[in-house]
Amino acid sequence: MHQRTLLIIKPDGVFRGLTGEIIARIEKTGFKIIAMKLVKVSKEQAAKHYEEHFGRDYYNRLIDFILSGPCVAMIVEGPYVIKKMRKMAGKTLAEEREPGSVRGDMSVNNLFNLLHSSDSPENAERELSIFFNEDEILDYETAADRYWYWEGQER
Ligand code: ADP
Ligand code: MG
Repeated sequence: MHQRTLLIIKPDGVFRGLTGEIIARIEKTGFKIIAMKLVKVSKEQAAKHYEEHFGRDYYNRLIDFILSGPCVAMIVEGPYVIKKMRKMAGKTLAEEREPGSVRGDMSVNNLFNLLHSSDSPENAERELSIFFNEDEILDYETAADRYWYWEGQER
């Protein structure tokens, strides 16, 4: 069983028309999007999702931002997907972001950083259950299953 992770394109990504570009980057890697929807995040979902950040100086701004418009929530599956999607997203703070990463290429702001990507298997499972029911998660075969993952690769 591959790892799975929660990816959220935040409202700045939707407002700026970058959802297609971000989804394209994910698809090209061969990772499989096994659930996806456009959502208006509720206050309860936002509080649960960002519970570790309660009390931080940016907390209220972060919650207001996530509630400010639609998000695209996705579950992405594949070998090492958690670590790889974190790298693809880029570092949290603007000054540390590498060119080539989504944030490094498309955001210069610490708060408005386009996407969320889970940081551990435990957080991935906790976070994806805030946004998806099990019956919204689909099992299907892609070309990547046949051509891009090889026999015996560690997962
Ligand atoms: P990441 O999204 O890279 O996992 P964190 O979990 O540390 O980052 O923070 C959650 C979100 O809170 C960030 O994606 C960003 O939107 C916001 N945030 C974090 N640190 C700051 C900061 N110093 N200033 C403004 N916003 C921040
Ligand atoms: Mg985080």
